[in-house]
Amino acid sequence: MNFSDLGLSASILKAIEGQGYNQPFPIQQQAIPAILAGKDLLGIAQTGSGKTAGFALPILQQFQQKQPGKNRFIKALVLVPTRELALQVADVFKGFSLHLTRRVKTLAVYGGVSINPQMMALSGTEILVATPGRLLDLIDNKALHLSELEVLVLDEADKMLNMGFEEEMNRIIALLPQKRQNLLFSATLARDVEVVKERLLSSPVVISVEEEKEENQLELIKQVAYRISTERKGPFLRYLIKQGNMQQVLVFVSSIRGADNLVAKLNKNGLQAMAMHGDKSQGARTEALQRFKSGKLQVLVATDLASRGIDIKTLPVVVNYDLPRSPKDYVHRIGRTGRAGATGEAISLITKEDGHHFKIIQKKMGRKVDMLDTEEIDLKGY
Ligand code: AMP
Repeated sequence: MNFSDLGLSASILKAIEGQGYNQPFPIQQQAIPAILAGKDLLGIAQTGSGKTAGFALPILQQFQQKQPGKNRFIKALVLVPTRELALQVADVFKGFSLHLTRRVKTLAVYGGVSINPQMMALSGTEILVATPGRLLDLIDNKALHLSELEVLVLDEADKMLNMGFEEEMNRIIALLPQKRQNLLFSATLARDVEVVKERLLSSPVVISVEEEKEENQLELIKQVAYRISTERKGPFLRYLIKQGNMQQVLVFVSSIRGADNLVAKLNKNGLQAMAMHGDKSQGARTEALQRFKSGKLQVLVATDLASRGIDIKTLPVVVNYDLPRSPKDYVHRIGRTGRAGATGEAISLITKEDGHHFKIIQKKMGRKVDMLDTEEIDLKGY
């Protein structure tokens, strides 16, 4: 199937070509015609499935026929759980919009940075991507109004609920006009997502691409594990990076302190590294991610929470420096590589204490990972 089979206009097709997409991903094949037909939608899909373009393209197409409305009365709202995701989703809209005759101004707003520049930037914005708390602050400041909203997207709704945004979401939904199109995306259909679905959607089209994607994705990832003692983990990581001549490595750790310590040690040993975790300012997180994405930063050390929404097209290597607690997090972490059809490598460092837990992870994942010994490797000088 091609993008041209989905009811998209010539200018949108040009915009897609401009982004270098050849064929629609499964979620796009199903979501785009449904959204263009004005239907409500429930998409069970993860980051990596292509869901962002799945909703951004039809929304942008709908805007091609709309006149710009009153200033600060936005017409489309995408609610997201994290700042990183807000920036990424807005980038997708902006990337496609570049090629359109009627350019539509998209803005990302999120907490943790000063509100004034966002209030000013809202002027002329028609599509807003927002985290819930900051959106409410902006509304309280009368910097924007939701009474003319036509499309609402809840992206990664399960994460938003897990992160405790339920009350904010309800407050926002109460401010919306009755007549509108609702698109709900979630990686899982947990009970709390089901509740939102019942409240929000009317006769939705339901699409689920989760399992197929995860299976496909795992196929593309070469997984390997090394048995190692806790004391040798640091030098061994440096050995892997240096010996393997790795230029872009995402390393997962279990704590904020662990991330900072590891970064300090890597830097001390001549490897360029930065940390990304919840204690870092928004500016520092954005800078680290941008430098990493553009290839200027060799190692990014992240905690699980900060990793949500990290989307890098061709990330070659992910290292589990510390093993995550849940098998789901393991799959989510290693899914940062091998995305959008590219192959990738996932390396896990396994201490004696991790052994049993790692067996459970492999069982849940339905895949066995090769375990290599490291005792013989001389780490002097690393
Ligand atoms: P998402 O799930 O929206 O975060 O998208 C995952 C990745 O797939 C992003 O890097 C997109 O740029 C890429 N992508 C989305 N749709 C396509 C497509 N049809 N062809 C190629 N790449 C795509």
